[in-house]
Parts: sequence; structure tokens; C-alpha cells
Amino acid sequence: MKEIYLDYAATTPTEKQVVDKMYEAYRLAYGNPSSIHLVGRRAKGYVEEAREVIASYIGADPKEIYFTSGGTECDNWAIKGTAYARQKRGKHIITSCIEHHAILHSCEYLEKQGYEITYLPVDKYGSVSIADLKKAIREDTILISIMMANNEMGTLQPIKEIGEIAKKKGILFHSDAVQALGSVPINVDAMNLDMMSLSSHKIYGPKGVGAMYIRKGVRIEPFMHGGAQEFKKRAGTHNVIDIAGFGQAVKILKENDKVYVAHYQKIRDYLRDRITQEIDYVQLNGHCEKRLPNNLNISIGYVEGEALLLSLDMEGICVSTGSACSSGSLKPSHVAMALHIGDDFIHGTTRFTVGRFTSIEDIDYTVDKLKEIVARLRAMSPTYRERNI
Ligand code: PLP
Repeated sequence: MKEIYLDYAATTPTEKQVVDKMYEAYRLAYGNPSSIHLVGRRAKGYVEEAREVIASYIGADPKEIYFTSGGTECDNWAIKGTAYARQKRGKHIITSCIEHHAILHSCEYLEKQGYEITYLPVDKYGSVSIADLKKAIREDTILISIMMANNEMGTLQPIKEIGEIAKKKGILFHSDAVQALGSVPINVDAMNLDMMSLSSHKIYGPKGVGAMYIRKGVRIEPFMHGGAQEFKKRAGTHNVIDIAGFGQAVKILKENDKVYVAHYQKIRDYLRDRITQEIDYVQLNGHCEKRLPNNLNISIGYVEGEALLLSLDMEGICVSTGSACSSGSLKPSHVAMALHIGDDFIHGTTRFTVGRFTSIEDIDYTVDKLKEIVARLRAMSPTYRERNI
């Protein structure tokens, strides 16, 4: 059976050059980077090489990069670490209602401890409004956390403008850039970012490793307590092999990101055009221009997303419905609900994310199968039959 992977937003395959780098690190960098002897220093070299490449890709200083276990840890750290460090100043945080659960659940956790959170709504494209943000700011606001790109709809937020507002008001600004890295040019100064979450496995690096950017001078409580690693802010012996792989993945991006983005856009647009021209009752979700180049999110009317996903899976085609994290639940995701997608369409919300290895032939096979499956599922849908009588 064919295997067509169209779920690159959930995770990506690890690039060969990344695996090679990790293999090299496995053989040579077995020391503890905190040890001062030869073998320890060699392992430290791999960690620092990765730190430098990541810092230079986002316009930061290497001392502003902190290795973590991934995007989830970064998001938890940014929210809770800032809340605890600034609680004397205030206990109000602003975020959006379409953030990843790593942000939303961290905020809910803080609410139980007396913090107040404003969850900004989004418009039908999934965009946060600057006017809403300005209205939400209070004397006791200590943090604004808005994601750079949404993992389901692909919508990009006005990060630079939000950063300018936060800076003027003396509020810290964090952005979850897990989905944006590699697809959107990132510069921490131009975007006025104080903190940013990054994850390796979305950019063809290994899983279980990420990095947090924290601007020099920004005070945030450590999340992990223990040894003095990561400038005394994130304890624990370094995950040297995965950090080396993450660094290599960013190095590949540095050299090729424009080529990848052009490829994603070409393939994604072809997929979008074929679907919208050949299947009726299809709604495009998210913003048509301000969106990730590899993301197509659609709602297919009169079709149940789970049935669609399973039918595509039986043909070897891997996509996502709702969000990867909430698959398994029949409830539409919080993001689809925030966009107020109509009742006949919301359950057929499906995310296709293309990647470096997706070809036009993959798309042709996918759309041909999708047409057959949609027709079969709709033949069983009473609302679709009523609509077409
Ligand atoms: N933030 C966003 C926007 C994501 O898409 C994800 C992963 O799906 C995460 C955070 C969590 O990252 P990780 O899987 O590295 O914990």
C-alpha cells in the first residue's frame, strides 16, 4: 500500500543529515558536557555548536538560547516562569483562545492560583485583533503570549505589532513559534520578542528536544531545579545527541529555507486548487494570505472528519482532523470552534500539511481517493441528501 504523509504539522521525519550528525555525536560526544575533562569538553562542543546555529538563525545571542525537552516545556516555562517571577507586579496575563494546549492548560493552572487570564477571541480567519489586545491590557498585566502561527489553521498573527505594544507598556511578550520556525522569517529584535518557544521535531530534527529564547535581562523563574546547566535556569544533564540533531536541522534550514517554502507553497496551492475545483461544499479555513505555506485546512460539508480520516488512512494517506492532539475525540477542536465554522461543515474539518518530501503525484493520488471517499460518506449523510433533493 502507498504511504502518503500529509501531517507534517504533527511531526516531521528526521532528515538524513540530522541522523548522521546524531550518530557522530553518539560515537564521539558521550561525555557529560558539565565535565571539564577532554571527553566532557567534546560533548559541550556539540551543545554549543547547536546553540550558536539556532541563535544566529533567529537573530539572538547564543546566551539567550536555553535547551529544553520541546515546545510543551517551553510554553509551560514561559507562562509559569514569568507568572511566578513577576507576581509582585501583577497577576494578569493575556493570551488567545486558539493557543496550543501547552499554553492554555498552563494558564488554566495559574487561574487556580489566583492569576487572571484574558483569552482574546479571533475573527473568522483566526486572527487576533490589535484593538482587542489594547483593550485587554491592564495596569497589572505582566505577560502577553500569542502564537506566531496556529498549528491547526495555519494563520499567522501580527507578532511585530503585538511586540511593539507590549514593549511600550513594559509587558513581557512571549510567542510560541513551534509551527513558524522554518516557514516564517524570525528575528527576535525586529519582532520585539522577549521569549519564544521552539521545537526540533517540527523542523526535521529529533523529537523530545526544543529551545527557549529568553532575551538578556528578562527575569523568569527556573522550571527545572537541580544542577547549574543552561546558565542555572534549566537543570538536567544535556540531551547532547538530540541537541546536536536539532542544531543540524536548523543549519539545514539556514541554507535552504527559501527553497523549502517555495516547494510547500507550490504543492499546497495545487492541493487546494484541485480540492476546491473538484469537490463541492468545501470551505477553506484560516487566512488566505497570512498563513503557513505548508498548511491547508478545509471543512468538507456533510462529512464526519473521523470517518474521513479513517477512510484516508485505509488508503495509506495520513492527515489530521481537528488537531493531532485531540484526535480520538469527536468534539471539534477549540480552534475550529473559535472560528465559528457552520454546523454542517465543522465536523468535516481536516488539516493537510505538506512537507519537503511531498510530490505532485502524492497530491494527485490523495485528491483522487478523497473524491471517492467524500462521495461515499455523503451518500450515507441524511443532511446531504436533503440538501440535494
Ligand atoms: N506549540 C505548538 C504550536 C505546537 O504545534 C506543538 C506541537 O504540536 C507544541 C507547542 C508542542 O511541542 P512539542 O511537541 O515539542 O512538545
